[in-house]
This record gives sequence, C-alpha cells and structure tokens, in this order.
Amino acid sequence: MKEKIEKIRKDFPILATQVNKKPLVYFDNAATTQKPSIVIDTITEYYSKYNANIHRGIHFLSNFVTDASEKARETVREFINADTVEEIIFTSGTTESINLVAFSFGETFIVKDDEIIISEMEHHSNIVPWQMLCERKDAILRVLPFNDAGELEIDKLSELINPKTKIVAVAHVSNALGTINPIKKIIKIAHKSNIPVLIDGAQAAQHIKVDVKELDCDFYAFSGHKSYGPTGTGILYGKKDILEKMTPYKGGGEMIAKVSFEKTTYNALPFKFEAGTPNYIDSIALAKALDYITELGLDNICKYETELLEYATRELKKIDNLKIIGEAEHKSSVISFIIDGIHPSDAGTLLDQMGIAIRTGTHCAEPVMQHFGISGTLRASFAFYNTFEEVDYFVKSLNYIIPILK
Ligand code: PMP
Repeated sequence: MKEKIEKIRKDFPILATQVNKKPLVYFDNAATTQKPSIVIDTITEYYSKYNANIHRGIHFLSNFVTDASEKARETVREFINADTVEEIIFTSGTTESINLVAFSFGETFIVKDDEIIISEMEHHSNIVPWQMLCERKDAILRVLPFNDAGELEIDKLSELINPKTKIVAVAHVSNALGTINPIKKIIKIAHKSNIPVLIDGAQAAQHIKVDVKELDCDFYAFSGHKSYGPTGTGILYGKKDILEKMTPYKGGGEMIAKVSFEKTTYNALPFKFEAGTPNYIDSIALAKALDYITELGLDNICKYETELLEYATRELKKIDNLKIIGEAEHKSSVISFIIDGIHPSDAGTLLDQMGIAIRTGTHCAEPVMQHFGISGTLRASFAFYNTFEEVDYFVKSLNYIIPILK
C-alpha cells in the first residue's frame, strides 16, 4: 500500500492543488473525504448522457438510469454484506439515516416511559434525533459513559438495560476521539434482552470492513461523502423484518403503492422509505466510490491508516505541552489534541496558512468536550491517500507555530 500511495493520490485531483500557495495537506477526512476522478467523471457522464427521472419511465434514458441506480444499491449491499437490497435505503447522509430510524422506529415502537440508550461519545446526529423522539413520546434517554482514555464503560450497559429499554444507538468509531467501540459485544449484550441496536458508522465504513450480518446489528448508518462518494449521499441498512414493521418516514411519490383520498397504501422495501425523486446520479457515483475502496481492499486501507495513526501519535507526543484527547487501545485514524495555552482555532488558522487543513472545535460532540472540561480540540484525521511526509510537515509546522502563539 505504502508504495502505491503516489499512484493513488493521482486519482484525487484536489490533492495536487495548493492552498495559500502551499501544497494542500488534507487532514480533515473525518469531516468529508476527497473524491477520486471516477466519482467526479461518473457524475459528469450521467448528467451529460443519461439523465432522466428514475422508476416507472417507459423511455430509454429512464430505464437506463433506473437500472444503474438499482445496481448501485446492489453494490452497497455487497459492500456491507446485507442479505438483500430491500435492506438498503438511500439517504442524504448518516444524519438522515438516524433521523429516519428515530422517527419511524419511534412512531412504531416507542411509548411513554420507554427508554433509549446512547453513549456519552455520540455525535450530535446520534443524540438529538433521540432527544426529539423522547420529547414527542415522553420517553427517557439513558447514557452509557466512557472513561478518560475514551473507552466505553461497557460493563455498565447491562445495568442500564431494563424492560423499558427499546433501542441502543452507538457509534462504531467516535469522530471526536477516534475510539473504535466494541460494537459486536454491545450488540450481543442488547440482543440478550431482545433490544435492537443502531450503529452510527459515519467514521467506520470507509476505514474498517463492515459485515452487517456478522455484526448482527439491526441498523447501520453511514455517509457516502465520508466514503469518497458525493455529498448528499448516505445509507441506512436495516433488517428487513424491522423495516417492514416501521411506519414510513416521509410521505410523497415513490413511497406509495396506491393513493386515494380515503386510504393510501405504501410501497415495498426499500422504496417505502425513499419518498420523492431520489439523488440517483449521486448514488450511482457513490457505488463507484465503494468499488474504488473495495479494489484497494479495506484490510490494506486499515493497515496503512493504522501505521499512519501510530506514527503521527508518536511524533505528536514529542511536542511539549501537547495532550492527546482519546487514547483508547483500539483507534481509527483520528487524533484529537490540545496544546496548553493555545486556542485550537488560533492554531488551526496558522496551520491553514501553511496549507494544512485540520478541524478545530467541538466536532459536533459537545458532551465529549464536557467530559474532559475543554472547549474544543484540534483534530487531524487521515485517509489512505495521506502520507508519512505529510505527517512530518504537520509536526514541523506545529513546532513552528507554537512559539508564535505562546
Ligand atoms: N456520526 C458521526 C460519528 C459523524 O462523524 C458524523 C459526521 N461528522 C455524523 C454522524 C453525521 O454525518 P453526516 O453529516 O454525513 O450526516
């Protein structure tokens, strides 16, 4: 993999650009990843040659693009090893996937005084939809804590579960800490009490091989744009038997079987959850991104990114007064850190002047910041196209700016 990086980088046009007259070092991959030419070209090709609204068309273009978008669904199914394409719902991102479940599962299964368990390290996308559900239904949100290393206190999960618990929703990988959570264990514990589990895979599906059948999760959500695909794409996987029981999320075209003013019946899965004209060209391009990942091999990606993470962690730790936030034993390629006496956004602004794109702030995970009593962190997040040389430049740049900001 290491030898192939230069070739891989050529597939991503933006990586050859400059920012502030410096070669771009893009370390903001947890926010969104860059796109390979195959994704960009697919979008251009389909709008140039094949665009027409999908489903029920009788003309060539409509049929052609319908076929392509349903093939894209099959690519996603294979990517996460779901049983059937009926279990793959195209959404606009992880946020929409989780909102869909919080609404539709909530409307169907949650009543007053029921309980929902999330964890303390969730992204706001896996907190707020559940809070909104709790408000609607007068239900209760319970929170599984994490320790100071950034690891979930998994022993406490059984204590939180009781006959009122209706669903558990946790991140596969924390975007603020980088922790890879033991989701298989969590799913097993919840299933012992017949409680379904939603996994927020926004920071995982592009880094770690996900097999929803092996995990036995009930829902798995991830974002296309964080997986080298277009913005405005995402996936919700759900087990067919649960999805079938859930009430639709949005009403409109596509999601119906028959409409009259007296009564409307709903379409079969997955279309029941895809109201309106879907983002079909971007879904087709997303499938190209997933094929790209598959071709590189998630095992190779994971191995290379782990080496980068370990190297960067070692090098960053050599910097005085720099503290890494989140030192779990199992981590994905995210490093959050603070530097004594320096505001993260000041450091981020100076790094930007050097062509380095990192993220600063709370990373939409304010409870994580509250846990550590900090206002925010600097976060570098890596993808397989990042290099050890870029890490060296990053560390050198930090060493240069710290005395300026002190
Ligand atoms: N969950 C996690 C763990 C995330 O990192 C993110 C994105 N930062 C989301 C959910 C939301 O994803 P999106 O903005 O693509 O809907």
